[in-house]
Amino acid sequence: MSTFLFDEIVFGPVNSRRLGVSLGMNLLPVNRKICSFDCIYCECGLNGELGDKSGQMPTRTEVKTALKVKLQNMLKDGLKPDVITFAGNGEPTLHPDFSNVIDDTIELRDTFCPEARIAVLSNGSRLNKPNVVEALLKIDDNIQKLDSGLTETILRLDQPNYPFNLEKTIQQLKAFNGQLIIQTMFVAGEMNGVNIDNTTEADINSWLEALNEIQPEKVMIYTIERDTPYNSLKKVPLEKLHEIAKIAKEKGFAVSVSG
Ligand code: SF4
Repeated sequence: MSTFLFDEIVFGPVNSRRLGVSLGMNLLPVNRKICSFDCIYCECGLNGELGDKSGQMPTRTEVKTALKVKLQNMLKDGLKPDVITFAGNGEPTLHPDFSNVIDDTIELRDTFCPEARIAVLSNGSRLNKPNVVEALLKIDDNIQKLDSGLTETILRLDQPNYPFNLEKTIQQLKAFNGQLIIQTMFVAGEMNGVNIDNTTEADINSWLEALNEIQPEKVMIYTIERDTPYNSLKKVPLEKLHEIAKIAKEKGFAVSVSG
């Protein structure tokens, strides 16, 4: 139950089970979550649950300065990140200057740690914005969420706060022409008496069909690691994740599993 907010623009470095030594970027306010989804497993809590509603997103200049200072300090200590990861207290592409922030980050990465990758973890809700898509095409790891191939499961798990259209989302993901990674959170248990499980045969079959349309360069599957807003949610066993990965690999997808 004890979800948390990131209290800095640049946080870490942390050892990410999926990405390596990761320097985190939070383009959302440091004291509240802002997201176009409200996933029932969100480690930042449910929308509006934590924090101070007056919190503002940092400006482009504040983000650039914070990242520059952090990279300079890391270099002084003989450290370099493997990856600079945009995640934080919500959906990073909601930042009004997202594409310029990405340009600044590429410039700083090239100056201070040219081997580091730049990753964005996104829920795909802003792929109707050409400048967001262009920015995502400039980075190394464009990681987009797709938790099921069934609309009803996504509505239950991810609770988008806009009129979500799965077919449109799949077409937007397909338009990256393979320059993307799909991330899928598998979760089980129940929420307010409703059964939660996106590992059903119907979910997996439709998810595989969606992957077949999208043709991502890689698929990352994982399960909950930290506290979630509902403590009735459960991790999906590692064996089950490997079973799902095996089926996806047989269909020709490169899959990584984090349990
Ligand atoms: S998309 Fe990410 S930040 Fe937004 S609610 Fe879901 S898990 Fe939380």
